[in-house]
Amino acid sequence: MNHQSTNTNSSSDGGQNITPSQASSNLPIVETPDEPTSEDAPTQSTENTGSPEVGESGAPQDLVNWGLQKFADQPIIMTSSFGMEGCALMDMCSKAIEEYQLPKLQIACIDTGFFFPETKQLRQKLIDRYSNLEFLTWETSVSIEQQRELYGDMLWKNNPNMCCNIRKVKPMRENIVNYRLWITALRRTQTKERSGISVLAWDWRYELMKFCPLATWTRAQVWKYIQENEVPFNQLHLQNYPSVSCFHCTRAVPGSNPQSEIRKGRWAETDKDECGLHFSI
Ligand code: SF4
Repeated sequence: MNHQSTNTNSSSDGGQNITPSQASSNLPIVETPDEPTSEDAPTQSTENTGSPEVGESGAPQDLVNWGLQKFADQPIIMTSSFGMEGCALMDMCSKAIEEYQLPKLQIACIDTGFFFPETKQLRQKLIDRYSNLEFLTWETSVSIEQQRELYGDMLWKNNPNMCCNIRKVKPMRENIVNYRLWITALRRTQTKERSGISVLAWDWRYELMKFCPLATWTRAQVWKYIQENEVPFNQLHLQNYPSVSCFHCTRAVPGSNPQSEIRKGRWAETDKDECGLHFSI
């Protein structure tokens, strides 16, 4: 069953639409409506909404602070499969919401039906910890049994792109139409496809703004943040799983650790390294 998301963040007048032209530059540099005075000038980086200091190379927490305020009257969604990056980003969003008294942020998880028990335990820990985040579950309308009847017992092995398309991309397309800003925890060093992502850009596939505050971070920086802020994370990362997805397609990578940049271990026997949510496959 699909869980259609509800928009708790939209303004009463429907909010302004974001257009592609607004994404044409290397944003985010915010235009202030009036000439600022010296009294208006921010004194700390965390208070710099409207400051050119927040841009492609801005610190992730500053970007999150800026983005959640800038788009506060728009319907915003963050998607996550509870990877380490997503957990760090949720923590940053929760802190920004608390500091700036912002609306609850919706976090959508696309549940394929093939999650590890450790991933389900992590989801519950995050729900328990972050009361200002609202956790949604998006699912395909195709049950595992129906998929088996239609495409055989191991579609995830025989045609992983089709399996990802049915179980991830389809529910994504059905639900994301309700939003204007999409927050993700992608980083440039994760895969070659991700090496060129912008911090903020118009996404033509889903027709909304896509915001990647962690774009410039390394895996080591994410791990450091997780430890310093005591953020819950998937315990499989401590068992040689650098990246965690469905149990059918995720393998331990001997010698890896939570700081390892490698994404191999996902679709290990193939050259596939994207599920199709962020890039066409
Ligand atoms: S990661 Fe594997 S099991 Fe999960 S949706 Fe994709 S192909 Fe299917």
